[in-house]
Amino acid sequence: MGGTMRLKAICFSLLIFTMAFSQKPYFQQEVHYKIDVTLNVLAKTYSGHERLTYINHSPDTLTYVWLHLYPNAYRNNNTPFARQQMEQRISQFYFSDSAARGYLKLTALRSNGKQLSYSLKNDAIDEAKIDLPLPLFPGDTITLEIDFEGKFPRVFSRMGTWDGYYFAATQWYPKMVVYDRLGWHPDSYLDLGEFYGEYGTFDVKITLPELFVIDATGMLKDDVAEETFMRQLADTTRYFLNLDKADRKQFIKNWKHDRERQLDLSKTKTVHFYAENVHDFAWFAGLHYMVLRKIHNGGVLTNVLVHPESAYNWRHVPDYVKKTVSFYGKMVGPYQYPKASVVQGQLRAGGGMEYPMITIISIPHSDWENFLEMVVMHEVGHNWFMGMLGSDERASTFLDEGVNSFVELKYLEHYYGKYNLTNFKKLFFGLDILRDLGDWQLLQMAFGTKVSERTDLPLDLRAEEYDRSNYGVINYQKGALMLLALEEYLTPPVFWKGMREYFARWNGKHPTVNDFFQTMEEVSGKELDWFVEDWYHSTRYCDFVIKTVKKKREGDSLKIEVWVENKGTMKDMPAPVRVVSASGDTLQKWWNGNPEQPLVFKTKDKPLKIEVNPRHSIFEMSYLNNQAGLPPVEIHFVPQIPSFETYEVIILPYYWYESFVDKHRLGGMIWGGNPILKQWFWTGKAYYATKTKRHGYRLTLTNRFHLPLANYTDVKAEWFDVDGMRKKGLYFSNYFQRRGKDYPKKYLNFALEAVDLYRGDYYESSMFQKARYGVITMEGKYLTGKMLTGLSAVFRLQKGMQLAGSKTNYLKVEIGGNWWARVSKNSWFRLEGYWANIWGAAYPRQESIFAGGEIDPRHQKFVFSRRGSLAPNRHYTLGQGMKMYGYGDPDNRYFLGKSGAALSLTVKPWKYLPVMYGSGAALGQKSMGLKGNQLFAEAGLKFNVASIEMIFPLYISDPAPGEKHLAFRFLLNYSFRLSFGF
Ligand SMILES: [Zn+2]
Repeated sequence: MGGTMRLKAICFSLLIFTMAFSQKPYFQQEVHYKIDVTLNVLAKTYSGHERLTYINHSPDTLTYVWLHLYPNAYRNNNTPFARQQMEQRISQFYFSDSAARGYLKLTALRSNGKQLSYSLKNDAIDEAKIDLPLPLFPGDTITLEIDFEGKFPRVFSRMGTWDGYYFAATQWYPKMVVYDRLGWHPDSYLDLGEFYGEYGTFDVKITLPELFVIDATGMLKDDVAEETFMRQLADTTRYFLNLDKADRKQFIKNWKHDRERQLDLSKTKTVHFYAENVHDFAWFAGLHYMVLRKIHNGGVLTNVLVHPESAYNWRHVPDYVKKTVSFYGKMVGPYQYPKASVVQGQLRAGGGMEYPMITIISIPHSDWENFLEMVVMHEVGHNWFMGMLGSDERASTFLDEGVNSFVELKYLEHYYGKYNLTNFKKLFFGLDILRDLGDWQLLQMAFGTKVSERTDLPLDLRAEEYDRSNYGVINYQKGALMLLALEEYLTPPVFWKGMREYFARWNGKHPTVNDFFQTMEEVSGKELDWFVEDWYHSTRYCDFVIKTVKKKREGDSLKIEVWVENKGTMKDMPAPVRVVSASGDTLQKWWNGNPEQPLVFKTKDKPLKIEVNPRHSIFEMSYLNNQAGLPPVEIHFVPQIPSFETYEVIILPYYWYESFVDKHRLGGMIWGGNPILKQWFWTGKAYYATKTKRHGYRLTLTNRFHLPLANYTDVKAEWFDVDGMRKKGLYFSNYFQRRGKDYPKKYLNFALEAVDLYRGDYYESSMFQKARYGVITMEGKYLTGKMLTGLSAVFRLQKGMQLAGSKTNYLKVEIGGNWWARVSKNSWFRLEGYWANIWGAAYPRQESIFAGGEIDPRHQKFVFSRRGSLAPNRHYTLGQGMKMYGYGDPDNRYFLGKSGAALSLTVKPWKYLPVMYGSGAALGQKSMGLKGNQLFAEAGLKFNVASIEMIFPLYISDPAPGEKHLAFRFLLNYSFRLSFGF
């Protein structure tokens, strides 16, 4: 454990501690809500009165208070929520009309009979500052009388209404902002980024149509009629579940039909809920809900409100809740609330969202049933992390999502073992051919990918500082992996004792990350500042390696010395080392991080296995080097979800039909290693053509390096003999991206290739000629994108050289750009430009500039391109280069030259019109000589189905003899780079 590192960490924590907490001891404000609200189903509005009592337990005198008016987030395009949606490049809200939007207005605001004034934040109209008529002294109480009117938006994030009959009232009422040691927290509503709430009581009466089913935070208060209504629904649902499949279908139809027929909006009921010690109140209502009901864990009530279509698939949900409450109860602390309900609804912010005592889940049901259980248990688990442990989720998302994801991991492991997600058998006719998979491995893969790309972030940022690609991976996955390492370091009994102590101390309060680690330090007696610095404040990571093992016989025992090294950047982290001997002795010692100092083990006989971090509970970039000797190898015949733990070899039979020469090609493919992390990842393909009796093969080897400047550098070697072409190539791909930012992405690639096109019969003679030559390529790419506009640019410089007797000698430069902009919800345009020039006369035809796009002279991409016919043939034309799609025809007539320029405009003018395009280009037969050379124009339509582009160049200016200007022509284009190399 590096001494200076630790010192720095201590200083840092001290600084934070001094800044934030030293002046003030912990205090907690108190708030009581009494709300009467009426739902207007047709107008999608609600209105009512709120009596808010606020007690100032702080040592400060308050002259103003803040209220969250969260639904105002949905009011216009200038709210923090709307701006965040733009940053995340999500445009549904931006283009929505006012009928789909929401708001929350204060129609009256009084205290002690006096009208109060308030102001909305300029750039955040969902936060209201209320000036108090008199200062609120420490210990004083103020009561606010508020009349309000709100409107449900369509579901853009969490709150909303759908299908005409469903309402999710979350973050819906004027809500007191938390005032704590750091002051006020008037943080606006965001999609990415959650909440912070003041504890208190909620006494809420909701008036809604009599036939609506409703559940909420809190218990029904003296409401026998509603209680009976819910019981009857539960009885009906139970009856429904016992029907057979066909009858259930009929029942659902009747059920929905009857309820819609019986609905009389003028017949209303008022339902009364009451909750204590909660920091928020949510309610959910809908017309057709069925109700699954269970009382468990010594009196906890669970209502599950489910759409009739999902009711059968959701029949086990009450049991998931029961299991969650008992598991968290045992591991973390006893459940403090009388209810834990689940509602099925719509969400755009993830698969589920938690509120105290009630949770909304948006996944209808799943054949992968463990997934439904996982989402339900995760959301119900939030009743601990931040229901009862009310941390500021915006300031430290880790404290709810990270800790909760970790307990989720433990839950799944407890009930379903380490490989708890495997449920793939249904997918393959019941055959168990995929590797077992656990929740834990998904975390490893998601976070490991980020670390490998050097785009991960520390855990200590505020929620709004992460973007979509990082928010989940860091807060949930890295957060859980950090705790897995902490559990290993402290040992599980000590860790869980610390967790329970944390709960006991902070239940019903506002803990911070400091409070969490301080509790862990006190319970374990271990100093953890270095751990917090490494795991929480930095992007360091581990990669332990068994470096050297020395064995020496000493009397009748064997002395084993083990040197360990950490090739990662987190040098402070110690790791357990385990030795298993032939007679079954298992010895474990902790390596302290010093690569010079060996660990010494004594066994009776020779060691079978020497392994560092044997349970893989400390996250590493690779576990393949954790053992002395060879890594464990797995062989599969179907591609698997990549493993971080074992060296995987995948073997697949290969078949390809090729209409020109070979007809059927048979063979095999094999690859080994992790294709995501690219750690010495290799591929091989070999085939035999049944007609021509020719052979072919392709081999690749890729490894990822982390050098200064680039996020990563992938180096790939390729060697093949396919389709009458031999090639040896060496590729360096550098990727540049700022941590935590999706854009811009930059690439700088270099390639060295030796090409030998030795057999012409595989190729169209108008595009290819036999040649042997070398190519050096440098390529730069730049990509950036916002919600309404994006830009990409490519620069490519290529030097062709003489190789063993050939005369090749040329220089080719290409520049391309593509700018798109969205004008309205259903209209956009794209402008593309391209310029290229070749210097030097000695170049093979395939390296020319083609009017009909770009060909793939060196087989770098995997191309499906079909021109004018759907029969399998071979056109290597790609939709890049000059993109004059009409000028490469099935009769081997391509336009090519030494210089070229093209400009193209693609427009989607209106929802009901197809995508149209028009292009103009010039192709020159001399270097830098466009003037007086061939000019082309074309216009047509484009359709995109997934990533397949269908292009119809209906008009072309230069048709072939006998061809019309205006005709039906088409091109299907699909190309991608496969790192597997086949
Ligand atoms: Zn969560």
